[in-house]
Amino acid sequence: MSGNEKREVEVNDTWHSETAVIRYQIPASPHREHATSIYMSSSFTFDNAEQARATFANEQEGYIYSRYGNPNITEFIEKMCVLEGTESGLALASGMSAVFSAVAGLLNSGDHILASRSLFSSTHQVLTRILPRWGISHSYAEIARPESWPGLVKPNTRLCLVETPSNPALDLIDLAWLGELCRAQDIVLLVDNVFATPILQNPKHYGADLIMHSATKYIDGQGRGIGGILLGNEPIMEELTYFVRHTGPSLSPFNAWMFSRSLETLPLRMQRHCQSAQELAGWLEESTAVSWVKYPHLPSHPQYDLAKRQMKLGGGMVAFEIKGGLEQGRRFLDALQLCSLTANLGDSRTIATHPASTTHSSLSEEERQAVGITPGLVRISTGLESVGDIIADIARALDISK
Ligand SMILES: *Cc1c(COP(=O)(O)O)cnc(C)c1O
Repeated sequence: MSGNEKREVEVNDTWHSETAVIRYQIPASPHREHATSIYMSSSFTFDNAEQARATFANEQEGYIYSRYGNPNITEFIEKMCVLEGTESGLALASGMSAVFSAVAGLLNSGDHILASRSLFSSTHQVLTRILPRWGISHSYAEIARPESWPGLVKPNTRLCLVETPSNPALDLIDLAWLGELCRAQDIVLLVDNVFATPILQNPKHYGADLIMHSATKYIDGQGRGIGGILLGNEPIMEELTYFVRHTGPSLSPFNAWMFSRSLETLPLRMQRHCQSAQELAGWLEESTAVSWVKYPHLPSHPQYDLAKRQMKLGGGMVAFEIKGGLEQGRRFLDALQLCSLTANLGDSRTIATHPASTTHSSLSEEERQAVGITPGLVRISTGLESVGDIIADIARALDISK
């Protein structure tokens, strides 16, 4: 037994994942409710002393305490395992607690991490400011220079941490190539799969040992709650289960219930996010107010062939450079009426972000440059509104900002 106490969900291996995310369910209570109930219970009772002893000793299955596991968490993990093709999972309080638990749960003082330089900004803070306090070092590798990666591996490199497509520049890492490199060097490969979601890309297929998601993003899909998940096979998940159980970054049953319900529509939502993003990216490419557009499934993307191979669809995120840089970028954001200005992504509502002045403002100018964040870069998380309305809002704001 591992993960947050996986059990009780009736698993049917013949179903497609679209069916499983709707139909996988923990058993109903005696009231026979159709929708899964929320188990807001800190602990679970035992019939007698012997059952308590056997459950604690792991000789018998059963919930003990919601920091270890909870029925709603079980349901959420089971669905995510189907989507990512993994054996086990750990549901966590946030995407960042998933990253931190993976790193702190596996590594020791003196170990080294090989990381892509293009990472989520809090992951960058963990690597550069927090882990060095415990003697865990890292080397950054450039996405644009894969030939340099093998030379950055050290005898004490135990983990490789990457994100593809990257945030916000939408650069890709060839997972088949990286999976092979990590296997040959006996390095654990951890992939942040937030932007692609399990619907577009399954890192496990390329040999990733661990996959992490911020459930806050596409998994919830409606900007309501914070959560995260780590997925992988035994025995690595067992090692992490011990760490997570006792350090306590567990997901609340309410959020687990919400994410599990949201997963029912994830395959459908991703189709729409991607279709609209593709259309928006194509439209932006024609706009004279924009100097370039980056979208994985646009033929102009420098890694278009890889994107076609590795991602079923191009994703919901579009990046573009507004002519006129910082000033023009700000005027553009101020002129938007439909698109939200907020720090989230993967929401049903379209969101516009100016990374240089917000999400990546803690980076130095050189650090921003190294990960492709130019002063006029705008990132759009394409929502589920009518794509006509999204494009009209962006067109109007581009016009005003000129
Ligand atoms: C949001 C995000 C995270 C962190 O997740 P939280 O739920 O905010 O802790 C990590 N990686 C990527 C790519 C993200 O977008």
